[in-house]
Amino acid sequence: MLTINNLSKTYPNGVRALRDISLDIPCGLFGLLGPNGAGKSSLMRTLATLQRADAGSVRLGDIDVLNQPKALRQVLGYLPQEFGLYPRSDALTLLDHFASLKGITSPAERAHAVESLLRLTNLWEVRKQKLGTYSGGMKQRFGIAQAMLGEPQLIIVDEPTNGLDPEERRRFLNLLAKIGQDTVVILSTHLVADVRELCGAMAIIDQGQVLLQGAPAPLIAELEGRIWEKPVEDAELAQLQKTAGLLSTHLSAGKTVARVQSEGAPDGQFRSVRANLEDVYFAALRGHTSSAVAH
Ligand code: ADP
Repeated sequence: MLTINNLSKTYPNGVRALRDISLDIPCGLFGLLGPNGAGKSSLMRTLATLQRADAGSVRLGDIDVLNQPKALRQVLGYLPQEFGLYPRSDALTLLDHFASLKGITSPAERAHAVESLLRLTNLWEVRKQKLGTYSGGMKQRFGIAQAMLGEPQLIIVDEPTNGLDPEERRRFLNLLAKIGQDTVVILSTHLVADVRELCGAMAIIDQGQVLLQGAPAPLIAELEGRIWEKPVEDAELAQLQKTAGLLSTHLSAGKTVARVQSEGAPDGQFRSVRANLEDVYFAALRGHTSSAVAH
């Protein structure tokens, strides 16, 4: 279990990236969801001990993370948002190198760890190919392989599905789902679908603050019966934006459909629809920022 208490971070330029963040993160896949600029990477980098916090505390089991960065790094696997690879190296050589850096000194043990991770990530067949020739999805899978070296207790993956095509994204999410249930895995993302498909627990953050945390199913259940939809023209949409609880819009057969949160039908043309995790997300952001409405 990872426990974060009252964590705050202000950058030298004055941006308050984390404001009094408190989160209890259990084992399993935890989704940290928020729009761009919410503070997700700042939180991930702070947890990974790559930057210092101004205030607060973080515990992973017995480890006082902010005061024992070396101990934390021993049990951390981290896939940063910008993951640089040596393009002229191949997966086998580089993963073996990372394994040495992780302290796996026995060659036999290292060979075993490297092979099993390259097989797990479906890269064994292409292990001798130069990393520069890998697709985005293959690079991300290699990133997970290196993050899993040394059986970490905490794995942090920051916006890992950015830029992946649907098939690569699917393979990547399937891979994350395979990581052990006794590991804390934090998946930071701005994609609600990533969290919906994978995570048993989640938090939504914006402007450096936690807006909501819990399990997706009960959060969705709370909105059941309060979500309404109707096709709208531009003028009416502008009106809804001002008056009703507009959550999001989407297109259906070329028509804009508005999704609204309301205790009862806003008018006779709205129909009641099932709530989903996107509604939870936009309901949390609504009122918090003016830019919360999705298209
Ligand atoms: P996210 O990962 O959710 O997109 P970030 O943590 O990258 O959010 O950014 C949160 C805020 O902190 C943004 O306003 C961003 O511009 C700012 N920020 C991030 N990194 C730095 C930095 N090294 N120095 C100054 N400001 C930063």
